[in-house]
Amino acid sequence: MQTKCKVSHKRCSRCKKNKPVTEFSHDRSSKDNYNFYCKDCVREKRGHKKRKPPLWLWEGKRVHMSGSYWAVTKKRIHRIIAERKLGRKLKKYECVHHLNGDKLDNRPENLEVLPRSIDNIAIDRLLKEMKKLEEENTKLKKLLEISVKR
Ligand SMILES: [Zn+2]
Repeated sequence: MQTKCKVSHKRCSRCKKNKPVTEFSHDRSSKDNYNFYCKDCVREKRGHKKRKPPLWLWEGKRVHMSGSYWAVTKKRIHRIIAERKLGRKLKKYECVHHLNGDKLDNRPENLEVLPRSIDNIAIDRLLKEMKKLEEENTKLKKLLEISVKR
């Protein structure tokens, strides 16, 4: 006589532990109607997806990657360090340059504050250009006035 084999234990394919089937949630798509992973592993997996764990702690603050820089909250660490080095807050247009090119090397001696970013220089150039055009415009207007009077 053959009774239907009822599994009481199952090996979790994630933590590789043998656990009673009550530790697995039901999954109809699997052969034995139980999930491949135990409940603990499913919970752990979901948890890890939701919140990214910090890569390391910097002065007790969580650090994450912001583009190719380290950052705490919304602020990039190299800017904080540069501010301390200068002893004042950085202006928005001031940019911090990594001397050795390594964007993750935030040693104060590797940081250099550049007073102007390329954007700012471009704006300056545009303003000068505008002034020049305005001057030319007034000149032309005067010339036009003279020719009209004639
Ligand atoms: Zn498991």
